Amino acid sequence: MSTMISVDEFQAEAREWIAANKPHAPRDYGAICPPDLVEHGLDWHRRLHANGYAGIHWPEEYGGRGLTPDHNAAWGYECAVAGVPAIFNMVGLVLAGQAVQKFGTPEQKALHLRATLDTTHVWCQLFSEPGAGSDLGGLTTKAERDGDHFVVNGQKVWCSGGRYSNWGILMARTDPDAQGLARKHDGISFFLCPMDLPGIEVRPLKQMTGEAEFDEVFFTDVQLPADCLLGPLHGGWGVGMAVLTNERGHIGTSVIGLERRLESMAKLAEGRELTAQQRQRLVQLISKGTAYKAMAQRQGPIASTAASLLKLGITEMMFESAMLRADIAGPDAMLDGPEAFGMLQAPGGRIAGGTSQVQRNIIGERLLGLPREPKG
Ligand SMILES: Cc1cc2nc3c(=O)[nH]c(=O)nc-3n(C[C@H](O)[C@H](O)[C@H](O)COP(=O)(O)OP(=O)(O)OC[C@H]3O[C@@H](n4cnc5c(N)ncnc54)[C@H](O)[C@@H]3O)c2cc1C
Repeated sequence: MSTMISVDEFQAEAREWIAANKPHAPRDYGAICPPDLVEHGLDWHRRLHANGYAGIHWPEEYGGRGLTPDHNAAWGYECAVAGVPAIFNMVGLVLAGQAVQKFGTPEQKALHLRATLDTTHVWCQLFSEPGAGSDLGGLTTKAERDGDHFVVNGQKVWCSGGRYSNWGILMARTDPDAQGLARKHDGISFFLCPMDLPGIEVRPLKQMTGEAEFDEVFFTDVQLPADCLLGPLHGGWGVGMAVLTNERGHIGTSVIGLERRLESMAKLAEGRELTAQQRQRLVQLISKGTAYKAMAQRQGPIASTAASLLKLGITEMMFESAMLRADIAGPDAMLDGPEAFGMLQAPGGRIAGGTSQVQRNIIGERLLGLPREPKG
């Protein structure tokens, strides 16, 4: 029986491999690859896959390396320290891949898991709608059963990477009668949707950084094969919530990236006269960063309700750090360059994967046991 490589040994091996291969890596784009880096990101991911660094903690039967979440976290750490992307398709490997492992039929696992690891299938997330973001249970995109397929009509929005994805995880309403306040979560189903079906139209959305990383996705009489349903009919809420918890957990583990940001901010302050107030803000941020790092290490790499604590803390801190960075850089930061870009990009982190206010509600209700917020 072969023994598993220890986390320390694996980490040392990964560090060496990254150092040797770093010249091939695109710049570190975080969780979602922007459209202009897709080819480079795909090349990088294929290199990771060929060398056993994609699906590190996925079972070997699905094409993974069969190691533990701790090994995977060590990989994320080494990539963050080296400033290279750890993954090309977060939605595929973290959200869709884990949902298929947990809820998929043997056929769905065979179709998607290896193909997701090697990026034959690149995924986007089709959850939010113009009238349903925080209140995802209010979504109105419909999927009506008609023989061996569902007919999908509706609109999704804020879909990261929609243009370059060939599959999407889609939440749609399959039971139009379950719309009352008490029951609305019951009538939703979760689908694995090919993005090339006739009737799907993807339109880029320009954001305030000047980039267009998101898309609106329109569905008009799309015939979605019935075997694209993942998990129980009308029971997609549970699948979606498992996916969102994984997403928050993933955002929360970006604590390492934050540590690097704080280090680079401390360097920005070198050789400058900081005001007492700026010094104090900087020290506060570094202290918070250290506390969140300790919390992330205690939580471990498995996502849970506590993922909301880290998601909230870290994205709020990234926002504050972008503001301080701009403040230290002075009036030039209002014009152009990395500080201006950081300021315009930082608010998105407080919204993606569930807003800060929503995380506070979750923490209040589920961790602190406060009364639930009134509905209606
Ligand atoms: C960078 C980024 C990437 C994203 N990628 C995707 C993606 O790939 N796929 C996808 O489906 N979606 C994606 N989204 C969308 C994201 O999930 C939604 O924007 C988010 O859930 C908030 O929904 P909303 O924009 O409709 O805001 P709303 O829900 O309308 O919220 C508006 C404001 O009201 C507050 N609010 C709402 N409800 C409550 C409440 N109960 N208590 C207190 N305050 C409340 C919110 O905090 C917010 O400040 C992305 C968003 C961003 C910023």
